[in-house]
Amino acid sequence: MNDLLKALSLRHLEKRLPELYEQARMHSLTYEAFLRRVLTMEVEGRKLAAQQKRLKAAKLPTRKTLEEFDFTFQPSIDERLLWELAELSFIKTNRNVVFLGPPGVGKTHLSIALAVKVLQADYSVLFTTLSTLAEDLTSVLHPSLRRQRLRRYLSPRVLLIDEIGYSKLTTEQSQSFFELVRDRYEKGPMILTSNTSFSEWGSLLGDEVLATALLDRLLHHVEVITISGKSFRMKDRVAKGEKGKATEAKS
Ligand code: ADP
Ligand code: MG
Repeated sequence: MNDLLKALSLRHLEKRLPELYEQARMHSLTYEAFLRRVLTMEVEGRKLAAQQKRLKAAKLPTRKTLEEFDFTFQPSIDERLLWELAELSFIKTNRNVVFLGPPGVGKTHLSIALAVKVLQADYSVLFTTLSTLAEDLTSVLHPSLRRQRLRRYLSPRVLLIDEIGYSKLTTEQSQSFFELVRDRYEKGPMILTSNTSFSEWGSLLGDEVLATALLDRLLHHVEVITISGKSFRMKDRVAKGEKGKATEAKS
């Protein structure tokens, strides 16, 4: 039997077949019901394997969910908008999503949480930071290799670029970043996070004209979420500090 399964590449059935025979005996399944169970098992095995492959390819640095985000801590965020985005219509309409705000307010958390929803809906995602992306795009010299490298960031259905603004780009890197935004424009949605307001992207890219052209495309179809609250990291630190003091006082 295994040789037949192999010949048909039904690799998910190999291990599960004895269990399926047992079910068929126990429930006296009809030929039809048995065949349906067998095929369903293979289809589901394939789906799960594809999901796992997409999750790995997404390179998410951690897993964060919308459910675990404390919206009461960050009242400047429109919670309803986030849940609406989580329904993913921005993918079909090729809208970008940009999170702006100072460090620690949850930009990376929320963008990963959206990416998790995207993956759950069986779309591909790629997570990167702007500095990694810029270095990667400019690390090869030959034009055809460059094009190939660019495709790495064009092919995922959703591209997440974190940490825009932490480091300035070289002329070459800015040009590559622009090419990427231009080529994904109205084709592939992006989720971006930045601690830098758009007016400062000129100095970030070292070129006002290029920055204007890039922002023109990026912001044509976009949802900008500006977070103006306090750092969640600091909240943790303050809470721990206070607890420390409390135990000190007790002892
Ligand atoms: P940013 O990217 O804006 O610098 P992060 O998303 O990395 O901030 O958030 C810093 C840490 O705090 C992460 O561990 C994140 O999960 C957590 N965090 C931030 N805001 C919230 C929140 N409102 N509710 C729950 N966890 C949060
Ligand atoms: Mg971050």
